[in-house]
Amino acid sequence: MEKLELLYEGKAKKVFKTEDPDVLIVDYKDDATAFNGLKKGTIVGKGAINNRMTNYVFKLLEKEGVPTHLVEELSDRETAVKKVEIVPLEVIIRNIAAGSFSKKLGIEEGTPLLQPTLEFSYKNDDLGDPFINSYYALALGLATQEEIDKITKMAFKVNEVMKKFFAEAGIELVDFKIEFGRYKGDIILADEVSPDTCRLWDINTHEKLDKDRFRRDMGGVEDAYQEVFKRIGLA
Ligand code: ADP
Ligand code: UDP
Repeated sequence: MEKLELLYEGKAKKVFKTEDPDVLIVDYKDDATAFNGLKKGTIVGKGAINNRMTNYVFKLLEKEGVPTHLVEELSDRETAVKKVEIVPLEVIIRNIAAGSFSKKLGIEEGTPLLQPTLEFSYKNDDLGDPFINSYYALALGLATQEEIDKITKMAFKVNEVMKKFFAEAGIELVDFKIEFGRYKGDIILADEVSPDTCRLWDINTHEKLDKDRFRRDMGGVEDAYQEVFKRIGLA
């Protein structure tokens, strides 16, 4: 399978057309951004880690009954995926208070939540991905009720599978963002799951092993990504 014209260049990935109209190739970059693109940098080796980690987790999710866009890993950084129409919602699940949740609600980072939460952001860079609820999503025509129900159910399932998977690697899944797409009348998991899109803490020391090290200028960013990669058995 070969890359044809560049369809889209995002902050973390390039997306190419292929000869098959139902299949795209995503090419993961080492570029890192935060705060809606305001902070820019490079995390050496990130592209390969995020590509391979996403594919590994997506295969596991498939086995657990969650349909994903994965077709085939083509190289360290490139993967063939089903071309979906992305539902313009960022779906965020939280197990432990952190980030914007802690800030907004005045709850100390690291406080365990009594049950997982789910929230939506409207995927729109110009607006800075604002927080919305399902009524907004319906009113704006971003998704149907049926789609929202499916997405909600799948997102909690993804959380259960990933929580267990990371726990076995000595990692706490604090929170994460996922995206879904429409494919041939169904809803499937798309985009990525990586230290860019998940908060991952050491289960004992609570050391941060994710993009917060970049966002907060903590140093050791590359090492943290590499550590996650090693712990899940991919290094
Ligand atoms: P961003 O657009 O936020 O800068 P990326 O650099 O990760 O993010 O770009 C990848 C883009 O491709 C995202 O907009 C994402 O929603 C989209 N995407 C992910 N998976 C698929 C897919 N299977 N089909 C079509 N688009 C996808
Ligand atoms: N997240 C993401 N992309 C975004 C916003 C958030 O991948 O555009 C992830 C982020 O890495 C974290 C989770 O979603 O794992 C929750 O992020 P939060 O709302 O706390 O926002 P932040 O503190 O990152 O601004």
